[in-house]
Amino acid sequence: MKTRPIGSERKTLSAIIRHGRRPVRRPATFTKQPDPGREIGRVAAAWGSRSSGRRSQTHVDALILSALAMLIDTHAHLYLDKFEDDLEAAVDRAREAGVTRILLPAIDVPSIHRALGLCERFDGLYAMAALHPTETKEAATTDFDAVAALCDDPNVVAVGESGLDYYWDRSFDDRQQEFLRLHIRLAMDRKLPIVFHNREAFDDLIRIVEEEWGDSKEMAGRRGVFHCFTGTPEEAARIARAGFVVGIGGIVTFKNAGLAECVRSIPLDRIVLETDAPWLAPAPHRGKRNEPAYVRLVAERLALEKGVSLEEVAEVTSRTAREIFGIG
Ligand SMILES: [Zn+2]
Repeated sequence: MKTRPIGSERKTLSAIIRHGRRPVRRPATFTKQPDPGREIGRVAAAWGSRSSGRRSQTHVDALILSALAMLIDTHAHLYLDKFEDDLEAAVDRAREAGVTRILLPAIDVPSIHRALGLCERFDGLYAMAALHPTETKEAATTDFDAVAALCDDPNVVAVGESGLDYYWDRSFDDRQQEFLRLHIRLAMDRKLPIVFHNREAFDDLIRIVEEEWGDSKEMAGRRGVFHCFTGTPEEAARIARAGFVVGIGGIVTFKNAGLAECVRSIPLDRIVLETDAPWLAPAPHRGKRNEPAYVRLVAERLALEKGVSLEEVAEVTSRTAREIFGIG
């Protein structure tokens, strides 16, 4: 049974109408309050006052903010134990921050089943199916067969996360590459987008992606996402030429990471937003558990760097995510 729907646009808008306020376009909140942490704190505090009876003006402002900036977290591992104690609350906080869709990338076969279980429980959640590159050391071909079979589930909207990870262990690069090619062919065969993980392996990853797709025009422009992008403007351009977009997450808020400067040169319509929760929480939560509600902090920082409104970031990145993943 589905409980606590996350897709609450209509409800939010009707709530605004009930309170006699029209959802007027307003500049991004960062122009008034450069600290996005303070802003989300204000929104959270407003929602937190829900039980106290009459809704405050701040509460209505939070509703308007949510109505104007619908966000999609394209990458959150909500099925992990780190969300065991407060999963429902985390989903509620995401909805209240304007996050209408959350995509759940897989790590291994059991994680796909857990993600599908969450899709049954909550509206607005979607699963992916794949073996994470670090899992391919021990993976059997039957595991990959299970991934392929699970791609038939209507709640599986992408192959992911596949890719290459040379950071932890270089003893099975060839095996990682083998599985990467299998995943790409699976995505092409099922006409599903694919989400790539990359750690210190960009050159090999992009070469294999280009080799596998060749000159095919199939799914051009919406082939998928290079998630947790931390590379250079040149790498982002090569990703775009290969028909992919980049996933930008909390690292864009980190001092000295260099990503904030890089995103200025990436066209907004080649970017989707993500948290990679429970990891890589954006400032001011850096080092703590990440969660989908914080994707708003990523959006606010992106708006600041690109000199556009929060609403524009939300509109463009959500449209791109919807097109790639074929979700409503
Ligand atoms: Zn991930």
